Amino acid sequence: MDHTDGLAFAIANSAGTPDRLGTPGALRAWLDEHWVDSGAPSDAVLLRVGDFRALRAALIVAFARTAEGSSPPDDVVDALNATSAMAPTWPVLRINGTAQNLEMETSDASETTRILASIARSAIELLGGPDAARLRECPACGRFFLASRPSQVWCSGACGNRTRVTRHRSRRAKVGA
Ligand SMILES: [Zn+2]
Repeated sequence: MDHTDGLAFAIANSAGTPDRLGTPGALRAWLDEHWVDSGAPSDAVLLRVGDFRALRAALIVAFARTAEGSSPPDDVVDALNATSAMAPTWPVLRINGTAQNLEMETSDASETTRILASIARSAIELLGGPDAARLRECPACGRFFLASRPSQVWCSGACGNRTRVTRHRSRRAKVGA
């Protein structure tokens, strides 16, 4: 799986103006877009929007530290691990006629807890796996992304161009002054 499709990237990049998790309504739109488990989230989930922002804050610290080549602080690691453990998940084998399928079973946690735990697990899979070495924070737009080559600095050609144009302009301004 490409981690940039995952919940962890989606939530880490949801801060900004307007904040994609700014209100219960915004959280509903964000979940509609990224959460594919079991249909529309209930109002009980949407009222916990503060918990989603708190998890995002921890995750952004973990991503930023990893992107700059250092380690996330202990309290952030503890928060991610504790959130993941709130809804234990395990694989089960299901037989349907001749079809044999692996399905994931989850403990009897609330819907909010299951979603938060999924986001934490998505972050842990990234930060604890080989892709962590490719995690970057774009200096132009602030988005997190996975570099496709070691020297990649910007998330996109557009961000690279914008930065070069700005530098060029500021150099010219200095020369003209
Ligand atoms: Zn960018």
